[in-house]
Amino acid sequence: MKKPPPLGRITILAAIALAIAAATLSAWLAASETGRRGLQTTLDDELQVLARSVESEIERFRYLPAVVGRDGRIVAALTGGTGAAAGANRYLAEVRDDTRADELYVMTPDGLTVAASNHDEETSFVGRNYRFRPYFQDALAKGEGRYYAVGVTTRKPGYFLSSAVRQNGSVIGVAVVKVDMAGIEAAWRNSSIFAVLADSDGVVFLTGHAPWKYRPLHALSDTALDDIARTRKYDGVDLATATPIFGDGTGLPADTAIGADAQSHILRSIAIPADGWRLIGARSLAPIQTSALLVAGMAALAGMLACSIGFYLRQRRQLVRAKLNEHDRLERRVEERTAELHREVEDRRRAEEELRATQATLIQTAKLAALGRMSAAIVHEVSQPLSALENTLATAGVLAERGEAGAAGGKMQAAREMARRIQRTVKLLRSFARKEPGAREPVSVERSIAEAVELARHRADQDGVGIVIEPVPALTVMANAVRLEQVVLNLLVNALDAVSGTEDPAIQISAAERDGMVEIRVHDNGPGIPAELRERIAEPFFTTKQTGEGLGLGLSISRAIVGEFGGALTFESEEGQGSTFVVSLPAAAAVREAAE
Ligand code: ADP
Repeated sequence: MKKPPPLGRITILAAIALAIAAATLSAWLAASETGRRGLQTTLDDELQVLARSVESEIERFRYLPAVVGRDGRIVAALTGGTGAAAGANRYLAEVRDDTRADELYVMTPDGLTVAASNHDEETSFVGRNYRFRPYFQDALAKGEGRYYAVGVTTRKPGYFLSSAVRQNGSVIGVAVVKVDMAGIEAAWRNSSIFAVLADSDGVVFLTGHAPWKYRPLHALSDTALDDIARTRKYDGVDLATATPIFGDGTGLPADTAIGADAQSHILRSIAIPADGWRLIGARSLAPIQTSALLVAGMAALAGMLACSIGFYLRQRRQLVRAKLNEHDRLERRVEERTAELHREVEDRRRAEEELRATQATLIQTAKLAALGRMSAAIVHEVSQPLSALENTLATAGVLAERGEAGAAGGKMQAAREMARRIQRTVKLLRSFARKEPGAREPVSVERSIAEAVELARHRADQDGVGIVIEPVPALTVMANAVRLEQVVLNLLVNALDAVSGTEDPAIQISAAERDGMVEIRVHDNGPGIPAELRERIAEPFFTTKQTGEGLGLGLSISRAIVGEFGGALTFESEEGQGSTFVVSLPAAAAVREAAE
């Protein structure tokens, strides 16, 4: 089963996810806010431009009514000269064509139209009374007036600019220019910006969006409705029943060109003070929402990227730390192992020292043991010349008594010879029993063999064993004479032991040089060494002999001694065929050559 991740890790991951979500949200909010503010500024600028274009469209005709009112033909038409109206009509039609005004007309102070540019059309204003229009009343009262309204005759909306016509300081009529604003409306309809123009009562009269036309922004008061009805401003439109655009008071249009969703559009308005109008514009928020989402997405991606980099670096750090730990661990192990090795080396050195010490003791013990075993031979070696000495001295004494001085002297000489022989034997035994290993020196192989055989001779004779020494060439080895004798004697004693039950016992000793090594071979025709014992015979204290007869040290000590001199002790044996023990030692000549 998979182990659940530790709580700390989950908390960290949750915190990171939360941080990314927070960063994304803030990026989205900031981008939305910035976009919204940018869009607002753009929309404000656009509304300024639109307002200017509306104003300049009106401004173009601002002085036209006053200029027209000064014309003689107009004055004549107003002062009632017969036939004067025809001239005024023509004049007004000409001015209309030249200025591209919608219509021009002149009214008497009673509001009756006496001349008009459309005098010859079906919807001619001539003969009609527009006394109820505020622009007429304003012109009479203040000298000029301006007013937007739907034409009661033509049903065409337009902006009316009026000016009082004076003669000799008194008002004799009112000249009016009607400006068509359909061009502006058409331009708005085709523009990307959503724009509406509302009058001072809040009634939309100019818009590219037809469903909003002639609808109030908010519910109209009774006074306002009365006013509109009296001035027949929107003649033919039932404003009392029209649904207000911002009817529910939320400040948002319910039906919609700009969408019911409060977040989908931004609404701005500016005032056109000259007429108390308000120009309202709207723009979709969709593009900035898209870019805000894009920014938020990028923030999220950046956050995730940062986290990934963070995770990657953390992972790497952990990996490096793990490697360093592993490295440290290995180094510690190497140090431990080195210390262990040092300890082992030290242990071995100590063991070797102990072994050497033990060996020295053993060699000594073995020597004493060998002496013990040789005691018979020794006793014979010493007692035989001693009794001979005694006899000789006794004979010398008798001869001396007889006065045979010459013969006595001869016996004395023989006695001295015997005493010397005893001396020599004792000296040999003393040196054999000496404890020191003895210095390495060139040793005559022939002499060593002869001395050893000499020591074993008595027992060999006793046992009836013939020891044959094959002719030995003049060989010298680097060793110690006493030690070498001891080794050869050990081998001889073992051989004597081995042949003790043999029918025709025989021992052969030979020596030869081969490849800088001298080999001394001791062969017997004993029973040989059983295969299963061959590995063990050179072990210390291994013996097949009866208790007291053998210590089991002979071979191990011999091997140690030969090893000390840089040689080796080996054997060849076949059951029933006897055994051959081989002592190999470096030839003295070879050692000298190597040293040179
Ligand atoms: P020890 O002679 O006191 O027994 P050694 O170390 O000299 O101790 O010899 C160990 C054993 O090796 C002997 O007990 C004997 O069994 C065997 N051995 C040694 N030399 C011979 C030999 N020449 N022939 C047969 N066996 C031998």
